[in-house]
Amino acid sequence: MTCQNDSLGRRRSQFEAYCAAVGFVISQLGGPVSHASDLQFEGIPVGVHAPLPSERSSICRAATHVVKFLQSCGIEAKSALKIEAVQELVGVEGRAYGCFDRSTGAIQLLTLDRCAEQLKTDDSRPGIDPADYFQSIVVHEVAHGILAQQEGAAELPLVAHEYLTYALQIDSMTPSSKQALLKPLHDRGGLSIKLPHEILLMMNPAAFGAIAYLHFKSSADQCSTIRSVIRGEVIFPRMDE
Ligand SMILES: [Zn+2]
Repeated sequence: MTCQNDSLGRRRSQFEAYCAAVGFVISQLGGPVSHASDLQFEGIPVGVHAPLPSERSSICRAATHVVKFLQSCGIEAKSALKIEAVQELVGVEGRAYGCFDRSTGAIQLLTLDRCAEQLKTDDSRPGIDPADYFQSIVVHEVAHGILAQQEGAAELPLVAHEYLTYALQIDSMTPSSKQALLKPLHDRGGLSIKLPHEILLMMNPAAFGAIAYLHFKSSADQCSTIRSVIRGEVIFPRMDE
């Protein structure tokens, strides 16, 4: 999801630390109280703040995955991203697991514990492994961050951004989590391959995400699909047609 609130860029002092990642190697450079990590992708810094080293590693892994995937399609991060795992998402209404702030480029995620707790009562996402889902949220939000840096992205409708971020998110999940996520849709007979519509994004984001993923995976050239969406060439239906 995206949000409008500027909540980051503060309370770094106690949690300040760095890990540097070149490619897939992550090394801790901070002191014993370090709660943050920094990734570098060809000069683009990705700052990572999370209470637990295991969370930071998960975030680094997932961020690396999506940065590399988009790079393989010729879509590069152009400026710094900040990722912070928090107990509560600041400035977000309703149930959410993560948030990308378009105005600052900052990303908030629920911590793994809070993510797992929220999943337990989330009827639209039953049976999904919390650790896997946590990483997939990183993929979703980092994808938002990179897509927002692309030329023309600001003019794209929200549905175009969410199509790509959900598709990449679900694509990054384990087969069992994917199966769990797709099962409610499958049980309702809603698994046809089609572009998801805008109203569904508002009404049932989990179903929107599942349909976006299936549509994305059905394309013969996924990089080409991503670039077409970014160029505004894919017109999403407003509602079921
Ligand atoms: Zn999103």
